[in-house]
Amino acid sequence: MPELPELEVLKNFLEQRILNLKIQEVIVKKPLVFRCLLDSFRFALVGNKITQITRSGKFLVFKNSSNQFLIINLMLSGRLQYTEMRTKTNAVTCFQIRFENDQELRYLDQKLMGRIYLVTETELSTVPQFMELGLEPLSDDFSLMQLQDGLQRYQGMVKNTLRNQHFIAGIGNAYSDEILFHAGINPLRKSSDLSPEEVNRLYDSIKIVLKSSIKQIQENIGDDIHIENREFMKVHNRGGKPCLICGTKISELTPEGKLTNFCRHYQK
Ligand SMILES: [Zn+2]
Repeated sequence: MPELPELEVLKNFLEQRILNLKIQEVIVKKPLVFRCLLDSFRFALVGNKITQITRSGKFLVFKNSSNQFLIINLMLSGRLQYTEMRTKTNAVTCFQIRFENDQELRYLDQKLMGRIYLVTETELSTVPQFMELGLEPLSDDFSLMQLQDGLQRYQGMVKNTLRNQHFIAGIGNAYSDEILFHAGINPLRKSSDLSPEEVNRLYDSIKIVLKSSIKQIQENIGDDIHIENREFMKVHNRGGKPCLICGTKISELTPEGKLTNFCRHYQK
């Protein structure tokens, strides 16, 4: 599932390619992902341009030249592909947006769990979860004190507190593992039990891991933005492999059905 670093890279990639290009055609193959009328979706795009792309938490927001907002929540298996029109479409392609430069943006979704909304500015609050998003962890608004408060307020496992979109927006299952590994903190610890020194470390790790991951993905991405690239991850999805710091086998648990990897020896 794409999280803040992947989405930030996607946003940057698309900003450089599709902004202010006239949209010529829209093709819809799997309407199930739409949370708006297909006619409205077509009408909002064809003949119009995307004038701005932003990211909020795990949402991508495309503003068009009529001040409407196309909001994409990729959820578990949604992916965006940017390619030439003549490239063969993948079986999981849900829709295609064709631009005047003969390139197109495709939305792929194997599980059809993603959601596509089209709203005006005043309707933004109707998009589920969009207005309730918590702090952007890379913004200046996210302070050490706010992290401290949140860790106290949300009583569960520290991993779940980091993943709580009402508290911090954009961090999910994979990057919470990476951040806690960097901070040397066991993901199963109760978030309100962390010492001030651990909270400090966690604060730094959130910023460092997210920034360095964005840089890493940016370097690796190439043109195939629909292919997940997480080879650089140090602990997530490395269950049973040796820890890169101490060599201990990386543990793998699935509390609440969420794959969680950590080093029992290094993460206290
Ligand atoms: Zn270790």
